[in-house]
Amino acid sequence: MNTVSLMPMSTLLIRNAHVLVTMDGREIDNGGLYARDGWIENVGPTDDIPAVADEMIDLSGHIVLPGLVNTHHHLYQTLTRAFPGAQDVGLFEWLRTLYPVWARMTPDHVRTATRLGLVELALSGATTVFDHQYLWPNGARIDDQFEGADGLDMRFHVSRGSMSLGESEGGLPPDSVVEDEGFILDDTRRAISEYHDARRGAMRRVVVAPCSPFTVTPQLMAESAVLARDAGVRMHTHLAETEDEEQFCLENFGHRPVGYMETLGWTGPDVWYAHSVHVGDDEVRRMGEAGTGMAHCPTSNMRLASGLAPIGPYLAAGVPVGLGVDGSASNDSSHLLAEVRQALLLNRLAVSPGIGEGAQITARQALEMATVGGARVLGREDIGVLAPGYAADLIAIDLNRVEFAGALHDPVAAVVLCSPSAVDHAWVGGRPLVQNREMVGVDTGRLITRHNMLARDLVG
Ligand SMILES: [Zn+2]
Repeated sequence: MNTVSLMPMSTLLIRNAHVLVTMDGREIDNGGLYARDGWIENVGPTDDIPAVADEMIDLSGHIVLPGLVNTHHHLYQTLTRAFPGAQDVGLFEWLRTLYPVWARMTPDHVRTATRLGLVELALSGATTVFDHQYLWPNGARIDDQFEGADGLDMRFHVSRGSMSLGESEGGLPPDSVVEDEGFILDDTRRAISEYHDARRGAMRRVVVAPCSPFTVTPQLMAESAVLARDAGVRMHTHLAETEDEEQFCLENFGHRPVGYMETLGWTGPDVWYAHSVHVGDDEVRRMGEAGTGMAHCPTSNMRLASGLAPIGPYLAAGVPVGLGVDGSASNDSSHLLAEVRQALLLNRLAVSPGIGEGAQITARQALEMATVGGARVLGREDIGVLAPGYAADLIAIDLNRVEFAGALHDPVAAVVLCSPSAVDHAWVGGRPLVQNREMVGVDTGRLITRHNMLARDLVG
C-alpha cells in the first residue's frame, strides 16, 4: 500500500492516559498508544503495549482522543470577524455586505488568514481541516493557501472553489468577484495535478467546490462534477442553508436545492454539502440512499439565523455527518471542540417539543461527528480512529483544569458538556503539532500582529 510517513524510522509511545477514547467503541482507562513511522501499531491499557520507544510521553491526568476533523470552513474570513455591518443580518444580506470587502483581498491576506485560522483550529483540537475557498481576487490562488499552511503539519484539504454567476446574470455576488468558467475548470485541473495526494496519510488534498446554487451556473456545477470524477477527487458545495436559497432554486431552476443537485449529478458518496438545514424527510432519505454527506455548522446556523439542521434524522438515514466551524465571519470562532458542544446543544433545541422531531444525540455521538464522521465525509479511511493501521493523529487534554472540576466521573462527556477547552497536546502522523497549548514551530504573537495589520488594511 502506498502511504505517506511523517516520521520514518521512529516510534512514539503514549502512556498512562486517564482515558484513551478510540472512537471505535473503546474507552481505555490508563490507556496507551504505540506508533511507528507515524502509524498506530498498538492501542490498549499501558501495561499491554510496548514499554519503550524513541519518544515516550506520560499523559497521566489527560484524556486522549483522535484528532478532530473540520469539514467546512473559509479561512480567509478570519480577517472579517465581527464585521460591524454584518453582525445582525441573514445570509444574503451578510454576503452582500462582505463581498466588496473580500474583493480587496490579496494573496498575502489569503496566506496569512489561512495560517492564522489553521493555528486557531489546531489549538482547539483539529488535526485535519477542509477549507472551502471560492473567492480569488487580485491574483490570489490555491497555491497561496498551501503556502500559508507550509510547515504546520496539519492534513489540509483545500477546494479550488468558484463563483461564476454574477449580479448581472441573476446571481448574488457582484460581477467583480466572479470568474470565467473556462478558466475555473482549467485552474481546477492544474490545482489537482499540482497538489492532490490520493495516498493514505496524505497531507494535501484538493476538492472541487463551486460555491452554491446562487453563485454558479448549472453548467459549471455539472462540468465541475464531471471534472472531479475524472480526477477522482471529492465534490462539495453549500446547500439548503437558508430559505432565501430555497426560493432562489425554485424560481430559477424549478427544484428545491436537493432536487436541483440531483439533476446535476451532484449526489453520491464522493459528495458532501455544507449546512443542509432546509430539507424534508424525503430529501434526507434520498441523501442517505445516495451516500451523500453533510457538514453540520451549528454556530453559523445560529449566528445567521439560518435554521436547525435535522441531525437525528440524518444519522438515522445513514447520511455521513461531519462538523464544521464554517467561515469565521459567521461564527466568529474557529474552535472545533466548542463546535462539538454547539452541535449537541443545538440538537437538543431541535428535538424539544413543538420545535422539531428526531433523535437526541449524546455527547459521544457529537464527538463521533467530529472524528469518524468527519473522516468519512472527507473520504479518509486513515484517520478519525485510534486503532492499529490508522495515522497517529491524536489530541490530549489535561483534565486537571478548573472547567472540568467535578466532572471526572465521565471525562468523555465532560470535554463536550463543560466549557470548551484548548487542547494541551496534539500530534499528526506522530509528529507534535501542539505542545503545552502552544503551536509547534509558529511565532503565534507575530502571526497575530501581522493578521491584525492585514485585517485593518482590508476593512479600512
Ligand atoms: Zn460556508
